[in-house]
Amino acid sequence: MKITAAIATTLAIPEDDPLANMPEEEGRTRPVVILRLRTDNGLEGIGLTFYGGKMTGSLRTAVEELGALTIGEDPLCIEAIVKKLRVAAGDNCGPGGIFTLALSAIDIALWDIKGKFLNQPLWKLLGGYRDKVPTYASGSLRRGLTDNQAQRAAQILVQKGFKEMKTQMALPGDPTPAEECRRVRVVREAIGPDIKLMCDINQRWRPEQAIDIGSRVEDVGLFWLEDVTRADDYQGLARVTAALKTPIAGGEYLYGIEPFRQMIEARSVDIVMVDIVRAGGVTQWMKIAGMAEAFNLPIVSHVMPEILCHMIAACPNGLTVEYMPWMLALYEETPAIENGMLIMPNKPGLGLKLDEKAVAAFTVS
Ligand SMILES: [Mg+2]
Repeated sequence: MKITAAIATTLAIPEDDPLANMPEEEGRTRPVVILRLRTDNGLEGIGLTFYGGKMTGSLRTAVEELGALTIGEDPLCIEAIVKKLRVAAGDNCGPGGIFTLALSAIDIALWDIKGKFLNQPLWKLLGGYRDKVPTYASGSLRRGLTDNQAQRAAQILVQKGFKEMKTQMALPGDPTPAEECRRVRVVREAIGPDIKLMCDINQRWRPEQAIDIGSRVEDVGLFWLEDVTRADDYQGLARVTAALKTPIAGGEYLYGIEPFRQMIEARSVDIVMVDIVRAGGVTQWMKIAGMAEAFNLPIVSHVMPEILCHMIAACPNGLTVEYMPWMLALYEETPAIENGMLIMPNKPGLGLKLDEKAVAAFTVS
């Protein structure tokens, strides 16, 4: 089997809030590059990448240029292709950034092809640990909402059957620690004691702020506090992790696999979160999961539940899948949620089919 074509498309996907219908800002869109990787026996793998922002044109070009280097290669030899792309481009332009974001689209498409060729769902190819995985609602309980809106949105998520959900602190403006604490308390009040509640800081606090505010909300029983300070301040994170009873999650901002060694060895986090497009695709994500397992640490996914559910379902240390609905509208069908669990598909590869009408509607170029 040989790769015959790599076709990239730039999309602008509406940033709405399909889970609780409480969008922070109407009409905003998110730029995404999708890739279709085709083979000489008629298979097509889907890959995608983002985080290009105003440089999404450059990201799309990077996907096309790396994609052209895969033509003629055997799509089952994924590590060999990754090595070829690194030697051709990555070794000179750096290990992270646009190179890795573009590489990830190709790697995801290669795994989709492998699954389709072997007629197996990805989660079974990668380890096949379990056929349903816990998931948590994400993206609805954002810091820009008023307390009332956050409470209403949280109740909608509970009514929809979610057993886990994430909110945010590091509120806009210059809130006092007491105001920060009030937000998680009103959300906890709205959902009751039995729903797992996570809280994301998105790197906005200093370590001492994280320890101060984190200790004031220990009684809220957060399932985790996420990215409490800069992702590469491994020692600062370790101080917070040692000081708080609440588990600290982090890792979504790191590129490649090597920084995870530093983060884990420094005991910076209790829960390892890995973003697939910053990691370098499925191949590298699974290596980080193994690293975390060796340190007795759980691993959690970041965005794209329709893809990441495969990796969490493959790993014995997979904890829960972030149900961030950014890309769901791209597909004809995505995994169903029953009783707070995502049901793993049995279709081959990613088990996803692009909704061509939606893709056409979102296409920019
Ligand atoms: Mg986060």
